[in-house]
Amino acid sequence: MTRYVYRFGGNVSDGGAGDKNLLGGKGANLDGMASIGLPVPPGFTISTPVCALYYENGGAFPDSLKAEVANGVAHIEGITGKKFGVAADPLLVSVRSGARASMPGMMDTVLNLGLNDETVEGLAAISGDARFAWDSYRRFIQMYSDVVLELDHGRFEEALEIAKEDRGYHLDTEMTASDWQALVAEYKALVVELWDGKAFPQDVHDQLWGAIGAVFGSWQSERAKVYRRLNDIPGDWGTAVNVQAMVFGNMGDTSATGVAFTRDPATGENAYYGEFLINAQGEDVVAGIRTPQYLTRAARERAGAKPASMEEAMPEAYAELARVFDQLERHYRDMQDIEFTVERGKLWMLQTRSGKRTAKAALKIAVDMANEGLITQEEAIARVDPAALDQLLHPTLDPDAPRDVLTKGLPASPGAASGFAVFDSDTAEKRAAAGDAVILVRVETSPEDIHGMHAAKGILTARGGMTSHAAVVARGMGRPCVSGAGTLSINAKEGLMRVGTREIREGEVITIDGSTGEVMLGEVPTIQPELAGDFGTLMEWADKVRRLKVRTNAETPLDCRTAREFGAEGIGLCRTEHMFFDAARITAVRQMILAADEKGRRAALDKLLPEQRKDFTEIFEVMAGLPCTIRLLDPPLHEFLPHEESEFAEVAAAAGLDVETLRRRAAELHEFNPMLGHRGCRLGVTYPEIYEMQARAIFEAACEVAEKSGAAPVPEVMIPLVATRRELELMKAVVDKAAQAVFAEKGRTIEYLVGTMIELPRAALRAGEIAEVGEFFSFGTNDLTQTTLGVSRDDAGRFLTTYVEKGIYARDPFVSIDVEGVGELIEIAAERGRKARPGIKLGICGEHGGDPASIAFCEQTGLDYVSASPYRVPIARLAAAQAALARTNGAG
Ligand code: PEP
Ligand code: MG
Repeated sequence: MTRYVYRFGGNVSDGGAGDKNLLGGKGANLDGMASIGLPVPPGFTISTPVCALYYENGGAFPDSLKAEVANGVAHIEGITGKKFGVAADPLLVSVRSGARASMPGMMDTVLNLGLNDETVEGLAAISGDARFAWDSYRRFIQMYSDVVLELDHGRFEEALEIAKEDRGYHLDTEMTASDWQALVAEYKALVVELWDGKAFPQDVHDQLWGAIGAVFGSWQSERAKVYRRLNDIPGDWGTAVNVQAMVFGNMGDTSATGVAFTRDPATGENAYYGEFLINAQGEDVVAGIRTPQYLTRAARERAGAKPASMEEAMPEAYAELARVFDQLERHYRDMQDIEFTVERGKLWMLQTRSGKRTAKAALKIAVDMANEGLITQEEAIARVDPAALDQLLHPTLDPDAPRDVLTKGLPASPGAASGFAVFDSDTAEKRAAAGDAVILVRVETSPEDIHGMHAAKGILTARGGMTSHAAVVARGMGRPCVSGAGTLSINAKEGLMRVGTREIREGEVITIDGSTGEVMLGEVPTIQPELAGDFGTLMEWADKVRRLKVRTNAETPLDCRTAREFGAEGIGLCRTEHMFFDAARITAVRQMILAADEKGRRAALDKLLPEQRKDFTEIFEVMAGLPCTIRLLDPPLHEFLPHEESEFAEVAAAAGLDVETLRRRAAELHEFNPMLGHRGCRLGVTYPEIYEMQARAIFEAACEVAEKSGAAPVPEVMIPLVATRRELELMKAVVDKAAQAVFAEKGRTIEYLVGTMIELPRAALRAGEIAEVGEFFSFGTNDLTQTTLGVSRDDAGRFLTTYVEKGIYARDPFVSIDVEGVGELIEIAAERGRKARPGIKLGICGEHGGDPASIAFCEQTGLDYVSASPYRVPIARLAAAQAALARTNGAG
């Protein structure tokens, strides 16, 4: 019979190796902590497959689950000596979700379960604290009514507010035992009113099964679904349910509760980091209602805060916590994010998991841990998400730029961002979709704000600490965040916020710095990031293990320089058409297009030649002998002509033509499907003199640079959009002829290659014969994707999201290679190309060259290099290293 329930605590850890897929992350780690003897309140985990069964069976549980859960409850009773539903010494439990991947705050939790009219009295007697018992009972009714019974929680909060008001109280802490008891009576009456006349369940087993069902049910809640979509978490994983003995951080001043990280999740610094609250329950820390205290004395002093840190207030429990941190890091070999409770001086561990961290922290922690010997260099490489490096490569605020600081909050997630202030998530999403940069400003965020946070460039909240919802989610998303800016008063309804006497309205530009907590009015200029230090170290390690070379897609000397700083080993794609748009040249380009015959075209091309030569000279100089793939003209000619009637007169005058001729020529060049039209080598076939001029410019520049610097450039001349061998043959002849002419004139020879892009399915299929002519292939996966899928890359935006949502494509095929379709064509082309020309150089220069998943595919296919835009070069280096490691460690 399949087992569904796994116990932990005491000397038991049924989960064995702590399988995350089976027990969920939380369950596996509770089991793992129990297995190394850490103080974990006993409990049991209902495995994730039950979640799928629950949905398959329309909300019913498998038959054998009842007995297994009873056995689990007995396990907890055995260890704690308490009895579930028995007033003399009642057992209370928590019921929590826990999927394979952490989904913070996205699913349901019920605490203090097991309280009813009888057990509350027992709890009061045994704890000697009636106030605590009645407070726990009212918390339980409130939470259960919200999460399980789905009653309007606003009504419960309202009742509490009125109870305080009536008594002239401001704080919950002023409520006495009998005040809470009276509120419990009101809550129970509210349940009857809101729940169709039914009473709050008194049977603790009914309570338990209700909570288990609710937690499984919350897997399909809207917010959980949105979170899964944003984080690529499959919907069929399901959640586990963890039932665990309650421990109490709210049993007076020797009790406390807290959340902590074994290292700083923002900077990666090897120092304990966290917050705690004396005499409180876990939800109080996360909810951000009371301001938590620092964990360590050093952190408190650094912040200049007064209330004692845990190290000072509870030295013994703190010392034990520090021992646990150490043990956890050694066991899990990673930075841990934990929840703990101190109940009357005794420390309990409620949760541990690998902590979410900023890219900066991920990098530092990986490098530090490898240097500490906790993990290997190879593991360090695997620990950093290449896509997250993006956060580090982007600019930070210029420290010397003037700034108009409005206020300061907590530095909750690093990075700087400027944008229009908006005060609700729907507006943030709408404006971002319209192309605006926005900063989402909220009193505090909740899971309902996920879409707005995702759309925003940065997040600012008035309330909440470093572990508030806003802080945790922003760090995970890599968005800069300033939280707890307490001097802000936000009026979302009126669309404004106030700081002192200043008023900022929706749509005004503000800047936040998530590394310092500063909030500024207006836009503040930025500076480039530091690429040495940990970043440099990890990149060095990555370069040692990767096989794939990494080149860049660049066409300006500035981009080439940036790419080289980021470690590019050559140019994989220089798109020459971008050079034609330069204001100084566009007129000559237009004269060339508008010329009546070859003679006229050549006259215009003669004007362009020295300009192109200058382009290539500069690029060759920057690239200093590294290979440079230069692609000859690709886009259809009408892209260079004006499209607006209003422009015609001016353009015609500049080109020395009458408006009528220009208009007629533009109409002649009009195409219905420009992507499939007169472009790529089709231009070279019809107007060979264009390619001839470009080839000449390349070779003249190469000779010039070789002469000047001694480092001979290695041009790789690339012909776009080839479908047949004959096309390439014709174009190669044009290039070779230009080369011979230049070499004869200059009295020197330069080594060069002529190759082609493989960006049409026919080219991939006929790669064998094309490779007899072409000396290298570069996969143009942008065009190859659009022509293989029959999806225009310019129009795909309208429906591709739906396609991904419906699972037709797992990911946007223009972002991540469609391995089955486009991938197969690449494999065919690589194989046939290699057969015809052993050792033929193979690369990729479509957008996919900077996408980690696609890079893994390129590694498996044995390509020689990937080429990515300058800022993605480091991402590609790291992804290539990870792909190489995966290959050597895996089946390959
Ligand atoms: C491609 O098609 O993948 C490519 C790199 O060329 P472009 O994007 O310029 O069409
Ligand atoms: Mg292309």
